[in-house]
Amino acid sequence: MSQQHTTQDWRAMDAAHHLHPFSDTKGLNAQGARVITHADGIYLWDSEGNKITDGMAGLWCVNIGYGRKDLPEVAKRQMEELAYYNTFFKTTHPKVAELSALLASVAPDGFEHVFYTNSGSESVDTMIRMVRHYWSSVGKPEKKVLIGRWNGYHGSTIGGASLGGMSYMHEQGDLPIPGIAHVEQPWYYKHGKDLTPEEFGIQAAQWIEAKILEVGADKVAAFVGEPVQGAGGVIIPPSTYWPEVERICRKYDVLLVADEVICGFGRTGEWFGQTHFGFKPDMFTTAKGLSSGYLPIGAVFVGERVARGLIEEGGDFNHGFTYSGHPVCAAVAHANVAALRDEGIVERVKNATGPYMQQRWREVFGQFAHVDDVRGVGLIQAFTLVKNKATRELFDNWGEAGTQCRDIFFKHNLIMRACGDHIVCAPPLVITKAEIDAMLETAVACLREFEQLVAARS
Ligand SMILES: *Cc1c(COP(=O)(O)O)cnc(C)c1O
Repeated sequence: MSQQHTTQDWRAMDAAHHLHPFSDTKGLNAQGARVITHADGIYLWDSEGNKITDGMAGLWCVNIGYGRKDLPEVAKRQMEELAYYNTFFKTTHPKVAELSALLASVAPDGFEHVFYTNSGSESVDTMIRMVRHYWSSVGKPEKKVLIGRWNGYHGSTIGGASLGGMSYMHEQGDLPIPGIAHVEQPWYYKHGKDLTPEEFGIQAAQWIEAKILEVGADKVAAFVGEPVQGAGGVIIPPSTYWPEVERICRKYDVLLVADEVICGFGRTGEWFGQTHFGFKPDMFTTAKGLSSGYLPIGAVFVGERVARGLIEEGGDFNHGFTYSGHPVCAAVAHANVAALRDEGIVERVKNATGPYMQQRWREVFGQFAHVDDVRGVGLIQAFTLVKNKATRELFDNWGEAGTQCRDIFFKHNLIMRACGDHIVCAPPLVITKAEIDAMLETAVACLREFEQLVAARS
């Protein structure tokens, strides 16, 4: 059937009937979408036979790499045995119980409970409702406000988009909802001025303290942040930031929530980003790497304090999804997490490929005239395209240079993403050193092409 269709057919059907996420449909249809047909390891193939290096692990999610043979087997077996049953009404099933125990074993100490969702956005919305329900349950119903950060990303549902700090998302559909506040992001390159990174980390954390005092500590339920801001352009806070944020949250009895949807499951070289940065949240949200994108599933990890409050005082939590703990997704997530552990994939990011990538990334991109703030941790890295390195001046029309550069990568069959003028990269965690070298060689050629364009214009 589908073999008889051509690229043109798929493009035509797609243009006629498919509304793409985060896309300008008119512009996309004029150009025609690239049709991705199959994948293996860190590579994708399109319908015209091009082999593409996926420097983004899909959308930061295919941690284990494409083309695993074991995960489809697990899915098939589970579908045959029990394709679906819910977990609402005094029932569970083997795989969801086993996954819960496995997740508790890979999570930092003190996280013994998880709540299942189908995505990162649903994890965030679940967290928002859970945080508010927790405070009501323990007798502080007035604690409702959640503080997020400008340029943070917490998904596309109404709650997640509100908590996130993407103003272009807020502009559509009257967001944010009430009960959400934002503080500035810990972006040293732009906001650090004359401070050292360490001093800036403390200052950026204190913006949260100022916001708590402005709203009133008795009204603030939680502060929520990504350990590393992903879609915001891989903003890595200075080492002093997270410990100070934790101190401030404790001081005002505000719950600390990490959105680990990207950082979770090995991206930073630790199982979770909080371990890399040395802080202990009360809850954290996950999705993406939990199943490496093989099926949709997310989980909210609930720490001891909140779990005790909810379990002892909370009664019914009137929340859940038809597919919370879906048996097939749970089975695949279990196999994925066990493989990340048993095949030493997370450990390799920490001890081998992560440090290697960071060293090479800095070496190859440090030398360009319009590339600055070359940064990364584990297998998540970025640099920023700038007009003038000496004065830290950014290009005019934020995002234009980034898109241009991203398009050059794409033309050379390398996928990296532009977040404004930040060029970001987060490949599957199974990438080898040789594959890193090959990817960076292509990227360097693309950057040369980009700099020629800039030179030709000025
Ligand atoms: C991707 C992402 C989300 C949203 O996840 P979806 O599965 O797309 O709903 C939430 N938080 C962070 C940090 C993310 O990167």
